[in-house]
Amino acid sequence: MQLRGEKPAHIITPAVHLRRADVGRLFHEKLGIPYTEDIPTLTDTARKVLREVFLAADIGISGVNFGVAETGTLCIVTNEGNGRMVTTMPPVHIALMGMERIVPTLDDLALMLSLLPRSATGQKLSVYTQLIHSPRRAGETDGAQERHLVIIDNGRSRLRNSPLHEALYCIRCGACLNACPVFRELGGHAYVGSDGSIAPYPGPIGSVVSPGLLGENFVHLAQASSLCGACKDACPVDIDLPKLLTRVRAGK
Ligand code: SF4
Repeated sequence: MQLRGEKPAHIITPAVHLRRADVGRLFHEKLGIPYTEDIPTLTDTARKVLREVFLAADIGISGVNFGVAETGTLCIVTNEGNGRMVTTMPPVHIALMGMERIVPTLDDLALMLSLLPRSATGQKLSVYTQLIHSPRRAGETDGAQERHLVIIDNGRSRLRNSPLHEALYCIRCGACLNACPVFRELGGHAYVGSDGSIAPYPGPIGSVVSPGLLGENFVHLAQASSLCGACKDACPVDIDLPKLLTRVRAGK
């Protein structure tokens, strides 16, 4: 997405709107390889290019899927291994975590890890589930020498005290996007603010979270729903999205 200068089209599968020919053309233009639609060749190219970036980076910046309060553990879930690369290869790791990502105990984390991959990609467990506890310890030969955690509020406290607070239960699985007939027809890049900027979170949950966190610019996105309820049925944490969408429409 960075090579194309685009925002993600989906919160789990950000390049879902691209065909292999689009990727082939992009890699030919930006990375200088011969045009190909062969997926193993494209994957190998991405891996080689990214590996060099990870090796040369002074700082790795990642998100966090869950933080565990009782142990101070950061949990990052990926299928590509990029999370493990960015958190272990550069000498400094900075983790950015929304404050709603904190769960009390490791038992709570286990529950979340059973919900997230099943709803996100239909897997029992994501390929890489990484638990990070500390920087590199004495005697260890790899891992970041410094780790910093930034816990982000950025409107979440305001959202927590609003009628939209249920939206903070979201674990970003993307199931409501996949179930939504509007999202399925339009795709993620159709969720645009009144200033023309693409919403950071598309689909049903995005139409609640984007206005909830970022304000008036995205309020009209709550109209991009038939209120059919498919999103609520798909949600593993039972967020009543039709109810929240009607609240956004009502200006609550
Ligand atoms: S609202 Fe529910 S279904 Fe949608 S992304 Fe969040 S957890 Fe998943």
